[in-house]
Amino acid sequence: MRVAPLLVSAVRRGMSVFTQRVNPVTGVVDWEMQPETYDYQQEVARSAYADMLHDTERNQKYEQGLKAAVTALRAAGRPVHVLDIGTGTGLLSMMACRLGADSVTACEAFRPMAECAGRILAQNGLSERVHLVPKRSTELTVGPEGDLSRRCNLLVTEVFDTELIGEGGLQTFKHAHQHLLEPGSLVVPSSAVVYAQVVQSAAVRRWSRFSPLGSLHVPDDVSECHGAAAVHDLQLSQLSSSDFTALSQPVPVFGFDWTNRTPIVFDRTSVARVEAVNSGTAHAVFMWWDITMDPAGEVLLSCAPYWAHPDTQGRTGSGPEDIPWRDHWMQAVYYLPREVRLRRRDEFNLVSSHDEYSLWFSVNDSEDVPVPGEVSDPAPICLCGLHVTVSRTRAGAMNDPRRHQLYTAALEQAITPGCSVMVISDACIYAVLAAQLGAGRVYVLESSRITRRALEMYCRDNDADDIVQFVDPESVQTTVTQPVDVLFGEPFFYGSVLPWHDLHFWYRARQLDGLCSEKTRTIPHSAELRCVGVEYRDLWKIRAPLHSVEGFKMDLFDDLIESACQVADSECEPHPLWEYPCRALTEPLSLATFDLAGGAPADLQSTTNMEITAPGSCNGVALWMEWILDPAGQQRLTTGPLQAPRPGQQIVWDRYARQAAHLIREPRPVTPGADRLRCQFSFAAKTGDLQVKFAVESA
Ligand code: SAH
Ligand code: ZN
Repeated sequence: MRVAPLLVSAVRRGMSVFTQRVNPVTGVVDWEMQPETYDYQQEVARSAYADMLHDTERNQKYEQGLKAAVTALRAAGRPVHVLDIGTGTGLLSMMACRLGADSVTACEAFRPMAECAGRILAQNGLSERVHLVPKRSTELTVGPEGDLSRRCNLLVTEVFDTELIGEGGLQTFKHAHQHLLEPGSLVVPSSAVVYAQVVQSAAVRRWSRFSPLGSLHVPDDVSECHGAAAVHDLQLSQLSSSDFTALSQPVPVFGFDWTNRTPIVFDRTSVARVEAVNSGTAHAVFMWWDITMDPAGEVLLSCAPYWAHPDTQGRTGSGPEDIPWRDHWMQAVYYLPREVRLRRRDEFNLVSSHDEYSLWFSVNDSEDVPVPGEVSDPAPICLCGLHVTVSRTRAGAMNDPRRHQLYTAALEQAITPGCSVMVISDACIYAVLAAQLGAGRVYVLESSRITRRALEMYCRDNDADDIVQFVDPESVQTTVTQPVDVLFGEPFFYGSVLPWHDLHFWYRARQLDGLCSEKTRTIPHSAELRCVGVEYRDLWKIRAPLHSVEGFKMDLFDDLIESACQVADSECEPHPLWEYPCRALTEPLSLATFDLAGGAPADLQSTTNMEITAPGSCNGVALWMEWILDPAGQQRLTTGPLQAPRPGQQIVWDRYARQAAHLIREPRPVTPGADRLRCQFSFAAKTGDLQVKFAVESA
């Protein structure tokens, strides 16, 4: 499952718990120590448990699989001893009880979840029937005094992520077969298949491959870097058909037999001989998997995007709404280390590999068909530095022609021959452009040493290395003595989580007041925080109460989420909203304007009513920043909607930024004229703390 990448990831060090918090003033991600009573509620709330439990197809197919396995054991005259690894809320154990298992043992490695399971089992009257052990499966003991009095003969488990094996499932299954299960045990699910489809896609490629923009040349070490092996999980069904060209059919590249009749191995490479279905350049592989739940392999759960999904086959004109939505399992993109030109009808080799936790792929157009079992293909390693320091979203922004055009126009307007420029942004290549446009000196504040090395390569490659000077943020005052004519920021900082965290630029700029004069041009000149009331099609499910799941009471889980949300330090979460469709129910509103060129940050506060202008269920608000680059307000860079949102219509979002999503806990139907959305906004200049609150009201 994808855990919300938030301010709140916690780690345990020694006896104390630390949580992460972004400080917009310093731009630094701080670790805050929490009292020992801190119970990880936040972690549970922000994780994907709720969305997973809303996944009705998943829940029902697990029960179908269990039912078939129990029936098969009974038919063979065998008892049914169930082991549920990673029980979470206890759901699968409760299903096993309902199906009449003779014994059920559940284990759970994550303490707060194990405690939650204990309470949920009690509320459903099943404490006596499920033996709950708050341990990792690999720590379970078997024997008269052990956690298990005997080995079990039916394993049910859901330890899969978008990459299938990223949560350590291979080790979990292997260990269970060796130590916890009888030989020949049944397993739900019984098997899995991983699919790969080779594609050409300029849009997708931007998230990984650094390419020249205008006059900016990319050093070979960067443009040809093999990239990092890290999975890029995303909602593939939200790409439009014009975003990519399929160069192959979906190819089954790995099978996994969870019953261990074909033994589970950690390291494998497979080669498929594939016919190109179109001509084009192989940029990336789309990946997804399916699992079969029952022993006979008839109950199939597929994570395919809509165009390859079993539910849509043989139908034309299908779309994302024709398949079940889920966020805890998505699809993934793997960028190819070497891009290869393919011709329609020619055959090529698709090389797929995995180790204990991850997958990677490569493509070659060799005419030789490799000998199975004799190929090994090491995982790609980033040697340029950028693929490990910048996120996929940031890489996308760095390769985005729309941004490039706006930054270029703003710099062209501001730069005069010989002027001095200060670049205040992380992973920013625009120092090079400033030099090309005639600046005499360009200072760059870059906080990562690794990125700095990559940026130095950009400078050398573009003959800008004698103009551009990297400055340590701590020693600006002593290094930079000459007045600064242009302060430039995209702005972007590694520490930013929510869109407004990039206002850190403002604080940085003010620290340089001593180097600036009235004539100093600040880019961006100002910024706006904007929002729109929306109906999210699916995103609401990640926080909505469950009440019950397949007939089992889940209120205690809802309470846990609810109380965690109440102490949450932010009402908004970062999401790439292009992956999560929503319709506008109001006109967009400018919540606040920040005068970046005009002076020091000042406190701001407002309450505004937004009229509902389209009917629907107002279940959320979307927020984003717009950066106004020039004083005349002509050059506006939105990180939100690419076209003005229209009431009732789907919003088209910038794909190379995360927006902020606020979810309304108790949404209700709204009507134009009868309802409105009340927005409260406050900004505390001293701490950089920005708060928003929303409520749906009758007009
Ligand atoms: N079975 C539940 C929860 C699935 S989420 C359901 O289907 O609704 C997966 C859970 O497995 C998580 O809570 C995770 O903490 C736990 N987990 C993963 N690997 C584990 C292991 N080897 N032993 C115990 N728990 C594990
Ligand atoms: Zn790299």
